[in-house]
Amino acid sequence: MQITGAMLLGAQAVRGQAGEMRAFAPALGKDIEPPFGLGDKADVARACELAAQAFDAFRAAPHEQRAQLLEAIAERILGIGDELIERAHLESALPKARLEGERGRTVGQLRLFASLVRDGRWCGAVLDSALPERKLLPRSDLRARRIGVGPVAVFGASNFPLAFSVAGGDTASALAAGCPVVVKAHLAHPGTSELVGRAIQQAVADVGLPEGVFSLIFGGGNETGEALVAHPAIKAVGFTGSRRGGLALAHIAAQRAEPIPVYAEMSSINPMFVLPAAVAARAESIAQGFVDSLTLGVGQFCTNPGLVLAIDGPGLDRFVTAVSTALGQKPAQTMLTAGIAKAYGDAVVARKTTQGVEQLAAGTQSDAQCSAQPLLFKASATEFLAQHALSDEIFGPASLVLTCRDEAELARVAEHLEGQLTATLQIDRDDYAMAARLLPVLERKAGRILANGFPTGVEVSYAMVHGGPFPATSDARTTSVGAMAIERFLRPVCYQDLPAELLPAAVQDDNPLGLWRLRDGELVRK
Ligand code: NAP
Repeated sequence: MQITGAMLLGAQAVRGQAGEMRAFAPALGKDIEPPFGLGDKADVARACELAAQAFDAFRAAPHEQRAQLLEAIAERILGIGDELIERAHLESALPKARLEGERGRTVGQLRLFASLVRDGRWCGAVLDSALPERKLLPRSDLRARRIGVGPVAVFGASNFPLAFSVAGGDTASALAAGCPVVVKAHLAHPGTSELVGRAIQQAVADVGLPEGVFSLIFGGGNETGEALVAHPAIKAVGFTGSRRGGLALAHIAAQRAEPIPVYAEMSSINPMFVLPAAVAARAESIAQGFVDSLTLGVGQFCTNPGLVLAIDGPGLDRFVTAVSTALGQKPAQTMLTAGIAKAYGDAVVARKTTQGVEQLAAGTQSDAQCSAQPLLFKASATEFLAQHALSDEIFGPASLVLTCRDEAELARVAEHLEGQLTATLQIDRDDYAMAARLLPVLERKAGRILANGFPTGVEVSYAMVHGGPFPATSDARTTSVGAMAIERFLRPVCYQDLPAELLPAAVQDDNPLGLWRLRDGELVRK
């Protein structure tokens, strides 16, 4: 498939006229062909209008057709073949094996949502029979189901050019909910974005859905994304990126004449609590697992373990020694973009010079452009509690070990933490009582709590929660990974005393869709 540098507005490939850019290959340190035409507000408006026109037909289409769309996208992405991996590798410097895994995850995610659509429980069908004889007031016939919220704007993330980008979890869950999608491509991987965008465009045509179900925009500067979030046709936003970017978009969404929800996944330092019995029993193996997790993907994961907490003592000393040895063997690697590499470099310089912070260990250095050296810092819990900057995410392979005097201080740090995507407990049986005391705090702080694992690696499944209180996300009630992600793009509609002929299939008496429904308070498939 040829990369042309065109945007995809519905079924059309349109070359943006508001300037040009080329992708930057971070490992080569140079721009690569072809040039991409950048869109403007008129292009954004065209994409949004097409999405609005497509919405009613798309959501009314049979669930089977919607499921087929998701499967067709998966097939079309696989059909691109090695070209997709090659281009994503050039644009992101991520290893090809990692990108192949990410493609598998992307395709698996689309298929999961296809099966979810067929299953139909997302419809949330509820039927409350009329009670005409009820005293003092009779009850009407009430039926409810959920429908898509409307067109959704998706901002592709830089750190997962496939799984969190054009056909990533936000797009898959929005399409599953019956919402047309307008993607603002991340300019770190425009060629990858076009390839995947064309796969979606073709899939929409394959299954005979309206062209406005999907569009892809390229924009230079913030104006394009701002115009997209501000457009009246857009009813919700999915975003993964920086805290600053997510907050800027949430602000625009809140200022609109019709405010809309923004589901922004932003920043998290993913604390790991190494409790005393666990560290005494296996300091070295925890250290190795931690270093592998910290440096995976050059630390460019939102679930990267950026904070380790433990109580001072010989176990912690062994852990620190083992981490230092393991980290010393990790090489500097190329980051996703020059901007991300610069942000990492600036953040680690700031951390090195922060009062009370000591550099414990470092991986090897490199002079290569865009490279990041793995680093581990140490501070006391007292410093952490006193200096807010130590709570900030450093996006890359850097982490901070906090020494706590005792359990009470560990608990104070836990209470002081901002919202997180994950919190990890390293525990043995003798730690369970302490872990039980920490759990209620961690439930308030994090979207996912792990025991004896490492937070990188997010399964796409029914129970997964990739969310959490601010600043991990802008809305802690939901997730951006896994089946529950569909909830973000649905809303309930209740039908009171509607004639049978006018009721949607999901709530008709004879249950033509064969759905599980809550009928007079009982969950039944009839
Ligand atoms: P970003 O700067 O937040 O950008 C993400 C997307 O949002 C881009 O398409 C960007 O488009 C758009 N955007 C950002 N600010 C905007 C604004 N004010 N108005 C309109 N659109 C806006 O994230 P990034 O480029 O991926 O990486 C930068 C930093 O984000 C990293 O150094 C890291 O700290 C953080 N990050 C965190 C995660 C995570 O999972 N926690 C993931 C990736 C990045 P334009 O810039 O083209 O307008």
